[in-house]
Amino acid sequence: MRHLCNKRTGLEKMQMEEKKETLALYRDRNVQVLLNKFLNDELETLEPIYDPKTGYHYPVVEGIVGEVSKTEPFLSKLHAAGILERKLYDKIIFCPNCRSSDFSTRYCCPFCRSFNIQKSSLIEHVKCGYMDIEDNFLEGNKYVCPKCHETLTKIDVDHKKAGIWCICEDCGKSFDIPVPTHFCRSCHTTSTFEEILIKNVYAYTLTENVKADSFLNWFLVAGIQEFLTKGGLKAESPALLKGKSGANHSFDIVAYRDGDKQKVIVVDLATSTEAIVSEQPVIALFAKIFDVAPEKAYLIAIPKLSENGKKMAELYKIHAIEAKNQEEAIASLQESIDAD
Ligand SMILES: [Zn+2]
Ligand SMILES: [Zn+2]
Ligand SMILES: [Zn+2]
Repeated sequence: MRHLCNKRTGLEKMQMEEKKETLALYRDRNVQVLLNKFLNDELETLEPIYDPKTGYHYPVVEGIVGEVSKTEPFLSKLHAAGILERKLYDKIIFCPNCRSSDFSTRYCCPFCRSFNIQKSSLIEHVKCGYMDIEDNFLEGNKYVCPKCHETLTKIDVDHKKAGIWCICEDCGKSFDIPVPTHFCRSCHTTSTFEEILIKNVYAYTLTENVKADSFLNWFLVAGIQEFLTKGGLKAESPALLKGKSGANHSFDIVAYRDGDKQKVIVVDLATSTEAIVSEQPVIALFAKIFDVAPEKAYLIAIPKLSENGKKMAELYKIHAIEAKNQEEAIASLQESIDAD
């Protein structure tokens, strides 16, 4: 069996490091709580909720991390690790003076900056070509051309809307494009586009990767490792053990009582999307324990192990555990450990 496992390249070591970092995230209780919400379909997309006083919030995450200020770093960390995917949901603007996002949008005169402007539609009489603001066409509830005095009845036939026209009530000038400014309802200062602060607001979903087996494995492994640690064992994940041959073998979890490295428990996890795990992981685990000779070896098959796999596990003295999810896996593992 030695030839199976005596080459460990630098690349593999790097992958182990990455795996360790991601696992550390999965071991974080808060991460587990949030991921469980996604995996249990309690949450499909994490969308921010708007509060006019304080801006956007993620109440679900605030409930998990406890503090509002910890929410964004928490979500950014999960996004950076490739666990959460994000989509631009909105852009929020902040007052440069007081950081409030409670604004009125004001459309101002480009000449005197007053927001006291009158917005009107421009009307054009098709036949004579005369153009003026709507008010000057109105006679009672009818449109009458102020130039040729013809009554206009059909929009887009005898008259058409030719755009927007604004008149400043303060300086009297007219213009077609006003300048937008932001009036902070909180500190009453007015900011221009140049002055305001803009921040992206995201909606988050679980990446497809996490839903796939390998990532889910890590999540399960993290939970099981935590369970073993609580049981008073020293549990490492993933971990390398040196075999009699001198080769290192990697296991999903290696656990032992502190100071007693002779009585080692090794655990591997195998998941299948096709409802049944083949005998392959049993063979792979056997190849490793043949060299390492741990006290006990567990293979956790999710959700089920093939009949052939079960027979081989029995033959190789591997404890095979079938479980549908993390809770079942931990319960069966507990039972199996208690039985000895
Ligand atoms: Zn303000
Ligand atoms: Zn003006
Ligand atoms: Zn006319």
